[in-house]
Amino acid sequence: MAEPAAAELFRATDLPKIAWGKGSYVYDTDGKQYIDGSGGPAVFCIGHGNKEVNAAIAAQLDKVAHGYRYSFTSDPLEELQEIMARKAGGGLSESVIVCGGSEAVESCLKIALQYQSAIGQETRRRFIARQRSWHGNTLGALSISGFEERRAPFEGALIEASHLSPVNVYRPPQGVAPDQVAEACAEKLEQEILRLGPETVCAFVFEPVVGAAGGAVPAPPGYAKRVREICDRHGVLMIADEVMCGSGRTGWWRALEEDGVEPDIMAIAKGLGGGYLPLGAALYQRRLAGPMMERHGGLLTGHTFVGHTAACAGGVAVQRIVEREGLVERVRAESPSFFARLTDALGQHPHVGDIRGRGFFVGVELVADRETTEPFDAALTVFARIRDRAFENGLICYPAGGNVDGKRGDQLILAPPYNASSDELDEIVEKLARSVKEVCAALPA
Ligand code: PMP
Repeated sequence: MAEPAAAELFRATDLPKIAWGKGSYVYDTDGKQYIDGSGGPAVFCIGHGNKEVNAAIAAQLDKVAHGYRYSFTSDPLEELQEIMARKAGGGLSESVIVCGGSEAVESCLKIALQYQSAIGQETRRRFIARQRSWHGNTLGALSISGFEERRAPFEGALIEASHLSPVNVYRPPQGVAPDQVAEACAEKLEQEILRLGPETVCAFVFEPVVGAAGGAVPAPPGYAKRVREICDRHGVLMIADEVMCGSGRTGWWRALEEDGVEPDIMAIAKGLGGGYLPLGAALYQRRLAGPMMERHGGLLTGHTFVGHTAACAGGVAVQRIVEREGLVERVRAESPSFFARLTDALGQHPHVGDIRGRGFFVGVELVADRETTEPFDAALTVFARIRDRAFENGLICYPAGGNVDGKRGDQLILAPPYNASSDELDEIVEKLARSVKEVCAALPA
């Protein structure tokens, strides 16, 4: 029988049919209204049914759907690359545009391996990542993911990778005080590089704010800077997976901007195209491009739909709106009030252990005992019950389970559209708080 948490997480039966969406709301074919408190899986950053984006995509489709990459470039492709380079800043000027997060991460891994080969470091093949992280469903991305529930059926066929402990102040590694988490976890990275031999290590991959596998968990201040130093010291590339936390979600266009750190390679997806068409990208430093060009003649990763013209047109339209309306700045400005409202509504609840995150990317962790942080019995699938009750109550939130030990642990993620109104944010908080209270009140004593 399936583990309860996994079975609940991946359940996809008896779903209502989606009919249409507008702004922060979607409607099913029975006419029921839902407020999209998580932007689906942290995707719909400007809400649904945006006419300007739809028109931009339709106009592109009327001209041509796609110019294949070995035959053509295009205005939307070049404009999206220009926007990403400008928004990412620093040396992150190079990019390959793909169809989603897994492809973006896969491309990051391939770029790292190709670059190491190009500079004569062919023995650097190993990736180091972390437990309780999610990098995607393709075999490479799955191999570096620290997400037991999703890896289990594929174990034995995954590429070998190191998985360090999660970096979570609420659940620190054993024997580490919360204020020592940044330093202790960074030190573990260096120890692992030395244990393996730096000449075998290709890259360290991490989510600056952990999404689906942890419930919006930011690393503490200082962690990313220490990781940067360690990677530099040992010739290890730093790959930031910003598929969920990037593209403005945390109130910065790049999540690691807030930490004052530039990765060598970075994956983005979800908020880049806002869910209008499948879109993702791997960004990389200019200095990485030269050796790969010289040695191999170009980037040896990519697919038929790389730089898909209509998808790029959609991404450009979304990013123009985000920029014109100052939505990343809005997220940063509104975030403290969003946290305050959630804390008012749920901060004193006996089963709410932690409310954390950055920007409009917030995790609420439910526990059996606030004092000890003891999680609920996994068989109760509290996170799924809350997800389901919220859905009945007309709220979409994103469930995350198993963060404690692969089985126990219950969180709900909120990731509202960047342009959700103040009233809509209130509605999201009220509906989540009501759903949490209803479910907790009905749990077996
Ligand atoms: N990385 C992260 C951090 C993610 O959250 C996800 C998706 N949840 C992925 C990669 C994979 O993206 P996709 O589902 O678009 O392939």
